[in-house]
Amino acid sequence: MAELTPMMQQYHDLKNKYQDAMLFFRLGDFYEMFGDDAKKAAKILDIALTSRNKGGGEKIPMAGVPYHSAASYIEKLIKSGIKVAICEQLEDPSESSGIVERDVIRVVTPGTVIENEILSENENNYLAAAFQFGDYYGFSYTDISTGEFYLTEFSAADQDKLKDEINRISPQEILIDQKTAETDLIEELQNIYNFTLNILNDKKFKRLYQGLLEHFQLKSLEGFGCEEMKAAVYAAGQVLSYLGETQKRTVNQITALKAYHLEDYMVLDSASRRNLELTSTIRDNQRSGSLLSIVDQTVTSMGGREIKKWINQPLIQKPAITNRHDALAEIIDNYMFLEKLRNELSEIYDLERIMSKITYQSANARDMIALRNSLSKLPAVKELLTEFNSTLLLEMQEDFDLLDDIYSLIDESIKEEPPTTITEGGIIKDGYDSKLDELRKLVSSGKDWITSLQKKEREKTGINTLKVGFNKVFGYYLEVTNSHTDKVPERYERKQTLSNSERYIIPELKEKESEVLGAEEKINDLEYKLFVEIRDKIAAEVERINQTAAIIAQLDVLLSFSYLAIENNYSRPEVTNSDEIKIKNGRHPVVEKMFAEQFVPNDCYLNQSDQRFIIITGPNMSGKSTYMRQVALIVLMAQVGSYVPAEEAIIGLTDRIFTRVGASDDLTTGQSTFMVEMNEVANIVNNSTEKSLIILDEVGRGTSTYDGVSIAWSVSEYLNNPERIGARTLFATHYHELTRLEDEYDGIKNYNVLVKEDNDGVHFLHRIVEGRASDSYGIEVARLAGLPEEIIISAQKILNRLEENNKMPVRKLEKTVMDDKHQQLPLFNTEKSPVLKKLDEQDILEMTPMDAMNFLYKLKKDL
Ligand code: ADP
Repeated sequence: MAELTPMMQQYHDLKNKYQDAMLFFRLGDFYEMFGDDAKKAAKILDIALTSRNKGGGEKIPMAGVPYHSAASYIEKLIKSGIKVAICEQLEDPSESSGIVERDVIRVVTPGTVIENEILSENENNYLAAAFQFGDYYGFSYTDISTGEFYLTEFSAADQDKLKDEINRISPQEILIDQKTAETDLIEELQNIYNFTLNILNDKKFKRLYQGLLEHFQLKSLEGFGCEEMKAAVYAAGQVLSYLGETQKRTVNQITALKAYHLEDYMVLDSASRRNLELTSTIRDNQRSGSLLSIVDQTVTSMGGREIKKWINQPLIQKPAITNRHDALAEIIDNYMFLEKLRNELSEIYDLERIMSKITYQSANARDMIALRNSLSKLPAVKELLTEFNSTLLLEMQEDFDLLDDIYSLIDESIKEEPPTTITEGGIIKDGYDSKLDELRKLVSSGKDWITSLQKKEREKTGINTLKVGFNKVFGYYLEVTNSHTDKVPERYERKQTLSNSERYIIPELKEKESEVLGAEEKINDLEYKLFVEIRDKIAAEVERINQTAAIIAQLDVLLSFSYLAIENNYSRPEVTNSDEIKIKNGRHPVVEKMFAEQFVPNDCYLNQSDQRFIIITGPNMSGKSTYMRQVALIVLMAQVGSYVPAEEAIIGLTDRIFTRVGASDDLTTGQSTFMVEMNEVANIVNNSTEKSLIILDEVGRGTSTYDGVSIAWSVSEYLNNPERIGARTLFATHYHELTRLEDEYDGIKNYNVLVKEDNDGVHFLHRIVEGRASDSYGIEVARLAGLPEEIIISAQKILNRLEENNKMPVRKLEKTVMDDKHQQLPLFNTEKSPVLKKLDEQDILEMTPMDAMNFLYKLKKDL
């Protein structure tokens, strides 16, 4: 191999250390990439691929981006899941002899972004860690742009919990051990989310633990309540250690560890979270159309991030939930203060992200002014808060730090409209520092002198057009137009000739100039030094500021829920420890927005003893799913602490909400839809308790009708049975057979969606009423969908014939099931004619009338 040039050698040494990152190698005003990095960058960033001599006449591919616009390129790479190692010149090239010293100063990774341009305002940007440690999984996550740092642990046997947590926070990047990385779970999640996965080596627990102690300057983690949570601490230690490696400095914005326990929150598995469209829609994964998009009426970015956390983590303890409702009740009663508070809050910037920039030493003077302006709102907020007496709002008042010392510090020191650069002066106010004032005086008197020189020289020379000017190359000069050059005295030294004039200097002017320029340079240096001092002083208060930021975030959420309740006519739910769910005139919070007045409200009653399992039948598109989801969402909203879209609601605390809906939505994971469906059902059956709420929207449709009905039947038996589960369940189904369950078991009740029939056909009234649906309205739906009348009439005839002959397998099965409900269904074992067999294999409910006709036609031919 040819000998490398010294610079390429330096590049290769660095690249070896950062093999999994794209190395941005600073060369003058550019960041250059070489070799494979260059090829990849050229493609992703759409920049030119060139080459450079690497030594011995050999060439290496090269691509570069200008350093001043690097941020947008880094953003593109990060969003493609690529890490970027930023290598800077550590010395001034003009002062170095030989090769300039260079090193990587930071590795930007998808989970460690702090740049506002890359982050989205209302979303956290999480770096998570999942490590198996002994019999436990340790799980930890942080957002270094806000300083949050959480940790928890759970049994290693419980991989679903890991999935649920990853699903809940949807991190950008995950640190993980080799073994866990190889599980199907991670592969499955990677198909859904686009996170960067880093497989890390085992590290000694002790070292990681020590790292945490050192960072927080503590002797133990007892104060954070996680000293004994070894697996959690292990994961958190890995996070911190990774931050050290990538950020190459201490992450001072992280001031606390927050330990949490999954048992304290409602369990929402990934499927349910998705099905209920809590934070994004199923169809296009957009925020718009989700529950969050409706309930988020926050006015600050901090509140925007906080409300998402609340929605994703409903509570299960009555006092905590009631506290939130009490606060809402009080705020709603004082509408005037609600308005005023929202107005004040709306002027508060993202304190958490400003603080993260300040501790990161990347904040400029404008960030300081934004911080000061935000802090200036705090007294009014606190004053308004004192109007309230409910527990949560009182706690907020007590913990509310006005931070007036920080406000004053910035107000006294930083100019009103400072520049974005911090090295060129113009930042610090007069009167803040006496040395600075002196220097400024020197400059201004020097400049006055220079200005007065013009008048003096005009008088002395008699050239009344003589002017004093300044440019970067020659500094101050005297300018005389060509018509007067004959009057220029000896002592003027000519410096520059222009087309119409000549420029001169004189010694006095140059003396003053160097005085002024020297002082200006000193001013810039001093201002920078003062600015950094102020920034560091504020950075040291990050904990206090973040505490107030957290209060603002929570207050914003409470105000948002209050506002929402007023705007949408929600009511306060009563949360109880009973097993009852009673909803009067409930509405679907998202769907009702599309229908306004026309949305039909519905009641729901569920309890443990005599009505725990509701079977809902009714035609397609009549409103079954909407109804069931609305019940789930009302329960969830109540436990989040919000008011609910209903006239009245009593919510017996629910430990988990499970949902299972139409299989066709789950194709992303590459499993067969029936397998996905059965996995979800298995999850429900294995994990639900009598305190759970289960929503089943069709079970068993992914397989043949026989299989489907029998599975649906036995799952229903099991869930309804108090000795097995006894969970409160809503089950919408096409299988009319299942309505027989009501006659067989206590606790099961039939409901259906009211349909009005008149001369024009059927109308869906969207009202849920007791009893089973009288018929399957498939053909009527086909008519509504606009199929030609000829087909409709023919389909009706076919249906009649089929029913007359009683050949519909489902009908037969219904009888069988009724006769012998606990036995293997005998129908499966009987010998059948080929025609029957074909009929048997066909899912008639899945057929269009057209299919049915074709199918019949073929059958007849086979006879
Ligand atoms: P199903 O589950 O019975 O097929 P959906 O719940 O999907 O039906 O509802 C179908 C459509 O009916 C919804 O998209 C909505 O347009 C309308 N709808 C459902 N429930 C209501 C209601 N309570 N009031 C008004 N329109 C409704």
